[in-house]
Amino acid sequence: MLPPFKNEPFTDFTQANTRAEFQAALDRVKSEVGQTYPLVIGEQRLALASTFATVNPSRPQERLAHFADGDATHADQAIAAAAEAFKTWQYVPVETRADYLFKAAAQMRQRKHEFSAVLVLEVGKSWAEADADTAEAIDFLEYYARQMLRLADSSHLLTPYDGERGTLHYIPLGVGAIIPPWNFPCAIACGMISAAIVAGNTVVFKPAEQSPLIGWKVAELFWDNGLPDGVLNFVTGPGHIVGARMVEHPQTRFIAFTGSRNVGLEINVKAAQVQPGQKWLKRAILELGGKDAVVVDETAQLDRAAQGIVSSAFGFQGQKCSAGSRAIIVKDVYDQVTEQVIALTEKLTIGAPDHSHEIYMGPVIDRESMRRIMEYIELGTQEGELLYGGHAIETPEGGYFIQPTIFGQVDPHARIAQEEIFGPVLALIKAEDYDHAIAIANDTEYGLTGSVYSQDRGRLERAAREYFVGNLYFNRKSTGAMVGAHPFGGFNMSGTDSKAGGPDYLLLFTQAKSIAEKIG
Ligand code: NAD
Repeated sequence: MLPPFKNEPFTDFTQANTRAEFQAALDRVKSEVGQTYPLVIGEQRLALASTFATVNPSRPQERLAHFADGDATHADQAIAAAAEAFKTWQYVPVETRADYLFKAAAQMRQRKHEFSAVLVLEVGKSWAEADADTAEAIDFLEYYARQMLRLADSSHLLTPYDGERGTLHYIPLGVGAIIPPWNFPCAIACGMISAAIVAGNTVVFKPAEQSPLIGWKVAELFWDNGLPDGVLNFVTGPGHIVGARMVEHPQTRFIAFTGSRNVGLEINVKAAQVQPGQKWLKRAILELGGKDAVVVDETAQLDRAAQGIVSSAFGFQGQKCSAGSRAIIVKDVYDQVTEQVIALTEKLTIGAPDHSHEIYMGPVIDRESMRRIMEYIELGTQEGELLYGGHAIETPEGGYFIQPTIFGQVDPHARIAQEEIFGPVLALIKAEDYDHAIAIANDTEYGLTGSVYSQDRGRLERAAREYFVGNLYFNRKSTGAMVGAHPFGGFNMSGTDSKAGGPDYLLLFTQAKSIAEKIG
């Protein structure tokens, strides 16, 4: 009998021995840098002459690893290998498939700090953020394995029909393209892969260009446990070439994509175009960006609200789809909350996160991202009042550091209040009253997460009805969804509301077959 699902606890870095263990994991990962990794297609490990480097954004000259620079032909080969493996994998008993996830979870738990250390070095997460990413990956493995066991035989849900025996089976779809982003490169990659394969699909996994090393480590967990060749294929290379081909290939049955709105919209269109030889409608599971808001009214506990605003805006440098990049504050308490938000932001520590567990903010992901964020900051100086930050931080190693930046008195329709910046930039917006604040919160094309700080029960109930987001939080920050507790996914341009980590997620990776047999 399986124990019920429980979230993986977070590591307590106040303990000296835990910090020493984490430091040892960082040292170990650093001692392994510089290796070259192949494509994994079926049983083949394919080294290519052309490679690209994955680097540490705190010290970009530090190359962590080299990955094969694949192209469309490699995507084709990987899809062919996945299609071949699907012929048998689809019939592997669900208990056996679930077991691969349980084993991967157990091993990731044992090697937790190693995975988190890679996240610190490859994408610049603080220790706590990295630890949460790894814990979420473990949760996805444990949760989806249990969900698939539950779903596999759903016959008991059918209404009995006289003279017949009816059964209902959730069977897999086929070959899936798994295309995650770099910002939760362990949890999201692991979640999308594990959901797909436990449901009986085979996949081609293409990690984001900025984070292939953690992607490799996730895939390795499955290969090392003897997952049959071809069930999980690994290709690296440019998203617009390799990823694009994976999407348009006629043998691709579904696409699980998490990433930006623009790439997601392009995938949505491509997935709808039927290719010669294609026999099905492709399913596109798209989880996209956000322009999330924290609403504060005059009844709120203001110190808590200010803390929530700061963590929502600046955790992982604001590079979360759930980042609270807008704080909408009713006018009676606007000045007070603003003051507290600035005071808390002043205390945030910034630096290379491998140096200490006390670093709260690391670098942004790469040069291009830094350029884009600095452009928004420049725009912000015209659209609002710069209250804090506003500058890049020079380091001798050329890391991609940006100060946490706060703009006040921002118009709700300003570009910095409407467009996803994906960096440490917070827009403070003054609302006339609570009604106005909710109206402003809803007035974007996104609808992913939102927070409301209020002690007025009636207002919270109204937000429950009227605040149009997939994940709504009361009196807490807008980030930090937990698997099982907060099924995650957004409305409008934030995606197809796939609710990762929720009881319905695996339905997206399956199709239901109803069988009725005449008896007597
Ligand atoms: P991105 O869209 O640039 O890239 C995502 C993935 O798509 C990468 O693997 C990339 O290589 C690939 N890709 C790029 N072009 C492609 C193409 N033409 N065809 C197929 N694949 C292609 O996004 P990113 O910068 O990696 O991630 C940040 C974005 O992800 C933000 O917008 C963020 O809000 C969003 N995000 C959403 C969620 C969610 O659950 N809704 C979670 C995390 C991140």
